[in-house]
Amino acid sequence: MKINILTIFPEMFEPIKASMIGRAIQNEILDIQIVDIREYTEDKHKRVDDTSYGGGVGMVMQVQPILDAYKKNEFGGEVLYMSPRGELLSGDIAADLASRSEITILCGHYEGIDERALELLNAREVSIGDYVLTGGELPAMVLIDTLARFIDGVLASEESVIDESIYSGLLEYPHYSKPREYEGLNVPEVLLSGDHQEIDLWRWEQSLKLTKERRPDLFEKYLDRELKLSKREKSILDKYRI
Ligand code: SAM
Repeated sequence: MKINILTIFPEMFEPIKASMIGRAIQNEILDIQIVDIREYTEDKHKRVDDTSYGGGVGMVMQVQPILDAYKKNEFGGEVLYMSPRGELLSGDIAADLASRSEITILCGHYEGIDERALELLNAREVSIGDYVLTGGELPAMVLIDTLARFIDGVLASEESVIDESIYSGLLEYPHYSKPREYEGLNVPEVLLSGDHQEIDLWRWEQSLKLTKERRPDLFEKYLDRELKLSKREKSILDKYRI
């Protein structure tokens, strides 16, 4: 998959080149092209922003450098503008974007971007949450990281994206690793039993408990699912229904 990024701070994307996304780039599963919008400005002082028509304190990123950066690099696919005005990023949106062969992500700064750039690029606005950041680079990295997990070959073969919190319909159960005891706290006995059926049941119950406590909205949705449950599972779930 090709992911094009239009930004005025290309150096902010260094972190994305580490870890799993870095490996996906090395393995040519992901091709990430980062373009510095500033290189395309026609302004002799290399400016990419100016004041807002109508007044106001903040500066606005101008349309010309953005459009030229997009066109001269022959970028394609849907253009996503990271923006607090956008639709909220979700697993469904990420999974859909992961099925594309190319997308282009536009990162804003200051007060945002000249509306005509968004119109000409037919940009779809995507928000990572109901809060405001100083620029679109961190949101773009959040989007790339979450969509990449849906692309075959990005996760290690034994990992499954749909087993994770949220996507499975429940929050994930607690994990433990060595040592067995730390500062008086012990790993739950069942996890040491080697009885995989019991372990699965314990984990499922922990997930039910956490989800009911922390995300009653998700828990209600989970109850609406058509669940194929054994007698024992039914009796466990019944404890949490009330
Ligand atoms: N004036 C804009 C508004 O009120 O909608 C906010 C501009 S913000 C300071 C600068 C840039 O950060 C935006 O153009 C956008 O690219 C990015 N940004 C800020 N918050 C974001 C969020 N929650 N999700 C996605 N992008 C965000």
